[in-house]
Amino acid sequence: MMGVDVVTFGCRLNTFESEVIRREAEGAGLNDAIVINTCAVTNEAVAQARQTIRRLRREKPDTRIVVTGCAAQTEPEMFAAMPEVDRVLGNDDKMRAEAWRDTGTAFAVSSDEKIAVTDIMAVTEMAPHLVNGFQNGLPRVFVQVQNGCDHRCTFCIIPYGRGNSRSVAMGAVVDQVRALVEAGYAEIVLTGVDLTSYGGDLPGSPKLGFLTKQILKHVPELKRLRISSIDSIEADCDLLDVIADDERLMPHLHLSLQAGDDLILKRMKRRHSRKDAIEFCAQVKRLRPDVALGADIIAGFPTETEGMFARSQDLVDECDLTFLHVFPYSPRPGTPAAKMPQVDGRVTKERAKRLRATGEAALRRRLDTEVGTVRQVLIESATQGRTEHFVPVAISGAVPGEVRALKMTSHDGARLLC
Ligand code: SF4
Repeated sequence: MMGVDVVTFGCRLNTFESEVIRREAEGAGLNDAIVINTCAVTNEAVAQARQTIRRLRREKPDTRIVVTGCAAQTEPEMFAAMPEVDRVLGNDDKMRAEAWRDTGTAFAVSSDEKIAVTDIMAVTEMAPHLVNGFQNGLPRVFVQVQNGCDHRCTFCIIPYGRGNSRSVAMGAVVDQVRALVEAGYAEIVLTGVDLTSYGGDLPGSPKLGFLTKQILKHVPELKRLRISSIDSIEADCDLLDVIADDERLMPHLHLSLQAGDDLILKRMKRRHSRKDAIEFCAQVKRLRPDVALGADIIAGFPTETEGMFARSQDLVDECDLTFLHVFPYSPRPGTPAAKMPQVDGRVTKERAKRLRATGEAALRRRLDTEVGTVRQVLIESATQGRTEHFVPVAISGAVPGEVRALKMTSHDGARLLC
């Protein structure tokens, strides 16, 4: 096998970083290697990475296997103890050329020698990485503008994998977006770990809303700008302005709500209340009535009663959500919530199932309202596109990357038809 293969788990940040990893690793002369860019958000994600490593070692006995990403950062010894693994790189190390040069020459004998993981909490700056394209062939690409998180939600392992919040300088972000638009990408998605804390570490503390305005001003050719998940309580005024006024900012927001009960939100150490969440959604709907809202909600957080769960479930209607990402609670070692009284796993599973059904019903209601409308659809593949509201559309005979005005004639409960 020539070159470097990167297997990506987890979030959009990892997708962006995998492009940088491939470039830096190949640039450092690494050859015949596979990099596993792991995720640590759930036990399931870590287990999948281990299974993939074992399978790849069986299939490619002579290929060098390097493990990186959040699970490598939080559990380096566990991966280094795997005989299938040649090298374990940290989350900051994976973005640096010199770490790959070392990887190219290092032949580890003991587990310890395999590990090159620096203290992620000591990382205070974020070097911009200009990427000119993505190998996933999608016309929508992610631009990492922020990394890490200063919050410590009790269920979350991410800060231990990615460190504290740090931002890419605004000029570098604008240059990155311009480079991708010039490369022909129709849609850019701004991504980060805690996107709404963008700029807190930069001179003048510019906020996400101001960054968004700068991008839209300095890259007039950009057709579609999308924002990935935000913490509603931290949304700034400029961001609300852009949501209200600029058609090029897509009318779709994904919110990190996590629960609908105030006592659970308190035990999660979230910064918003149920009332805050409902009011934010109503405010955004007033500013942009056709906006589609999505949210992450955890089912089965420790101490959650049936009544508390019901308040998460009815948040879907109260906030008029369209897209629901449901996470059955997964106790992560080292997080405070893992030490709290746990909800029975079967109950968690059953609640997640009910919540997903509530989400599917909400999506169907939205699809009903979309029938008869004309939407601007970004063609993602020969069979699918997505509207500006991020609603999937079944299509045929269109060219990926095109944005087409299409009339919605019906839906199949999950996708619009045209
Ligand atoms: S805001 Fe909370 S859930 Fe989000 S990354 Fe930070 S600690 Fe995790």
